[in-house]
Amino acid sequence: MAAKHQIFLAIGSNIVPRKHSILKALVAIKQSFPDHFDVSSVYLTDPFLQIAQPAYYNCCVGFSADCSPQDLLAFCGTLETSLGRKRNGQKWQSRPIDIDIVLFGSLIINQPDLTVPHYDLDNRDFFIKPLLELKSDLVHPTSNKGLQQLLDQIPLEKKTHPQRLFKPTI
Ligand code: ATP
Ligand code: CA
Ligand code: CA
Repeated sequence: MAAKHQIFLAIGSNIVPRKHSILKALVAIKQSFPDHFDVSSVYLTDPFLQIAQPAYYNCCVGFSADCSPQDLLAFCGTLETSLGRKRNGQKWQSRPIDIDIVLFGSLIINQPDLTVPHYDLDNRDFFIKPLLELKSDLVHPTSNKGLQQLLDQIPLEKKTHPQRLFKPTI
């Protein structure tokens, strides 16, 4: 049997109905990956780098699974599409749902379509805050820095000021 990894995903939405889309994504993820499934609070965050677009709902989930990283990426893409995500090649557009693989155990993956840990984890308070809620001693597998330390070092211009909204019950 393949080894299980502790996996963390980040989920975001900034097109209404944001709460509905996030909850639908959470239910689908839990259904497919129920082992040690846990979800953070949902946060209201400013758009990254003050891009002019609506505010985001963000949260993270953690679970254990023995799937491959590529299978998980495909799962995330299919779920995004089923929740109305359309891509036109432009970066950081408003979206009904975005699901990123942030950590896949301590694996370091550099493939053309998949970078894990997420390439910008260090700079994203809207990833790190909910992740710390799920596991307060998380460490970045590349730098070996604690996530709390990374959070403390995020420069002001990259802060999204996550405000805790609610803890989903699913
Ligand atoms: P960002 O990656 O800066 O958060 P984004 O989430 O808006 O931006 P997308 O358009 O959703 O970017 O994804 C672009 C591509 O990123 C995807 O097609 C996917 O192959 C690739 N990708 C690389 N690493 C990851 C990862 N860890 N999780 C999800 N997608 C990833
Ligand atoms: Ca993203
Ligand atoms: Ca994405």
